[in-house]
Amino acid sequence: MIPSLQKLQKFIKLEIERGFDNRAVVGGLDRILDWWELEARNEGLAEVLVQFINARLRDYSRLSADSRLELLRGLWTRLQREAGAAPLPELFRQPTAVPGKPPLPGLAAPARPSEEPSDSEELDFSASSRRGKPVAALIEAPTALDAPVSVLSGVGPRYAQTLGKMGMHTLRDMLYYFPRRYDDYSQLKPINRLTFGDVVTVIGTVQNYSARKIRSGKQIVEAIIHDGTAAMRLVWFNPYVARRLHGGLQISVSGKVEQYLGRPVMSNPEWEPIDQQMLSTNRIAPVYPLSGQITQQWLRKIMNNVVSHWAPRVTDHLPPETCQQAGLLELQKALMQIHFPDSHNLLQSARYRLAFDEIFLLQLGLLQQKSAWQERSARVIEAPEEWFQQQIERLPFALTGAQQRALESLRQDLRSGRPMNRLLQGDVGSGKTIVAALAIAIVGQAGSQSALMAPTGILAEQHYRSLQRILCSPGGPFKPEQVRLLTGATPEAEKNEIRQQLEQGDVRLLIGTHALIEDPVTFSDLQLVIIDEQHRFGVEQRAALRSKGNNPHLLVMTATPIPRSLALTIYGDLDLSIIDEMPPGRQEVATYVLTPRERERAYRLIRSQVEAGRQAFVIYPLVEEGENGESQAAVEGQAYLQSEVFPNFKVGLLHGRLSPAEKEDAMQRFLANETHILVSTSVVEVGVDVPNATVMLIEGANRFGLAQLHQFRGRVGRGHEKSYCLLVAEKPEDIENQRLQAMATTNDGFKLAEMDLEQRGAGDFLGTRQSGFGELQLASLTNLKLIENAQKLALTIFEEDPGLQHPKHAALAGVLQRFWTANRRGDIS
Ligand code: ADP
Ligand code: MG
Repeated sequence: MIPSLQKLQKFIKLEIERGFDNRAVVGGLDRILDWWELEARNEGLAEVLVQFINARLRDYSRLSADSRLELLRGLWTRLQREAGAAPLPELFRQPTAVPGKPPLPGLAAPARPSEEPSDSEELDFSASSRRGKPVAALIEAPTALDAPVSVLSGVGPRYAQTLGKMGMHTLRDMLYYFPRRYDDYSQLKPINRLTFGDVVTVIGTVQNYSARKIRSGKQIVEAIIHDGTAAMRLVWFNPYVARRLHGGLQISVSGKVEQYLGRPVMSNPEWEPIDQQMLSTNRIAPVYPLSGQITQQWLRKIMNNVVSHWAPRVTDHLPPETCQQAGLLELQKALMQIHFPDSHNLLQSARYRLAFDEIFLLQLGLLQQKSAWQERSARVIEAPEEWFQQQIERLPFALTGAQQRALESLRQDLRSGRPMNRLLQGDVGSGKTIVAALAIAIVGQAGSQSALMAPTGILAEQHYRSLQRILCSPGGPFKPEQVRLLTGATPEAEKNEIRQQLEQGDVRLLIGTHALIEDPVTFSDLQLVIIDEQHRFGVEQRAALRSKGNNPHLLVMTATPIPRSLALTIYGDLDLSIIDEMPPGRQEVATYVLTPRERERAYRLIRSQVEAGRQAFVIYPLVEEGENGESQAAVEGQAYLQSEVFPNFKVGLLHGRLSPAEKEDAMQRFLANETHILVSTSVVEVGVDVPNATVMLIEGANRFGLAQLHQFRGRVGRGHEKSYCLLVAEKPEDIENQRLQAMATTNDGFKLAEMDLEQRGAGDFLGTRQSGFGELQLASLTNLKLIENAQKLALTIFEEDPGLQHPKHAALAGVLQRFWTANRRGDIS
């Protein structure tokens, strides 16, 4: 085996041992690619293999552990076959080397110190160098902010562990662990001026105090303080307070003023002696999310140590003139103020600055990714014009203008020599599938393979049937056996056959679910990857499918309507095509909101529609995620509707707990109009296409999000017949529900998305999965002004210095790198 392969094998072995954490090479496997490539060529490794390895490993850092294992396995198999590489390491073949699980023994995380946490850890804040590690000792170290939290005095192993669970491993993590909210105790008043209900701070001297048991057996502590104007009583339901109180102590006390027998009293107020820095009282006090035995006061203290020392010492990654232009607070100040704000104004500015950073870094990363993607080359794929026109003419309908425009962009992408990286956005029913189908036809005509991944088995199945119809009929580009379906339900023997034919290139289009990436399928020449209903997939799943080819063209489709500026933020690395025109003959779906008592009217409508030859969906809500309730409601609903309401019709049943075969059967019968009414749960939400269905009845409609309701409604109104969407609220008063009313007002997905944004923030049109934004701490996707500003700045900097090579951007380059890797936002597309 040549040395370059030996090296590669070593890295792979290490990766396996480490559980595929991409740490075998410092900075990630893709770091070594450039020199490795040179070496391998010098040693005479075949160019196709060099290219192949390069293309595969380029995406490595973006994959999940499972996909990494899959990728390395495939890669090595090929090297064994074609370059005489030594057999795979043993571990590779054992299913027990499960990726993503803790690394194998010997490589586990460093053992926890055996030292038991001492009692003093609990209360002792003052012994500054108990462990001999004062914070200041770290100033000189360049990576001091990466020091573990255990360097802090007062943070022993037990606390360090809890902080770690809360996401704080290093000092930097602490700086970025933001308060959940604030208690405003900035108003300071003399006791004789207090009014009931005030939330204030008073400063006084403890006159006396006592601890006693009350009837419930609980201990309370009472104290009287006097501030020269009047006295006030304080009560704590916490016996430990007594340990720290003593007569004559001057304390600052914050809380809400209540009355007891006409006199002011505070119960469980925050308090602290005035001879120390006030963190919990007499200020706008941060309230952090807590966990374990950690208390608010303790965390504030530790946090204050860290923040007051380190915030001024961080480097702002934005040049000062940029901050000024954009009206941003300097980072140092923002970090200080977000933890311990001096005023509401400063707090607001701090939040704005830090939220701005999130969007800005996201945007800048996307711009870089987009340009990196554009530097890659892809196969030029082009179809003869005459052949293409024939394909268009074979279609059962004429394409809409919007479809033609989208298709034109796709064709351009395919022949550009650069990998397509496009988002096809179009409201439900706008006809995205056919556009994708024509792209597939072009790729197939050129002799290459395509893969289409859908989020559910039902949808994959449906695509399979309709694409068979479009692509495999006489005159079409494929023979039926060249288009295959791979889902969780596919029998093992058939899977094997498909795998084999894929590798041989006999299968030209593989349609499926997650199985496409979870199964060890290998394509011989994958050139086009299509993801349908892409918001249902995670970032990694998209990368995983793409990595099955060699810089394949990528098309993602979504029915989620998003305002354009937002789309730019979320999909900044993609080109955008919007289908903004419905196929002709579509009518608005008439939408009505009904009270439970009006249900009978809905049934009458269904009855008359079915008698006219049409069909209906009846949806039951998800009662509680993951609970039996969901399928239960549907099961009972079906039984009731069949026996009591529609004894003369056939009522089918579809829900998530059925086996794939049962689901398929239920769908097939409904498609064939053997069942007239299909009772279902949210499994029909996406994509399902039964043009003969004209009624969508949704029970418990108030429980669903707006995006979901809109998706459900999109299941009807797909043919030429007048269609209806009936939203039945659970309780009469639920018909006032804003979402239901919005649904009744408009059929326009974009309008609904905007309403949703206004009402509930990014809400459910932008699930976290959709955006990969789960990790954004502060930025709200509803703040379009902020988004636009951050975008503008990112673009300015990117255009000026795309690689961030200028010295003044050095800090920015570092932060950007950390932002993207820390959050594993490998690939948003
Ligand atoms: P979606 O964009 O929601 O995925 P589909 O691709 O499933 O929509 O298309 C919805 C329905 O519209 C399908 O039945 C499809 O055959 C039909 N359709 C698509 N394009 C046209 C068109 N140009 N004219 C008429 N019907 C069309
Ligand atoms: Mg669709």
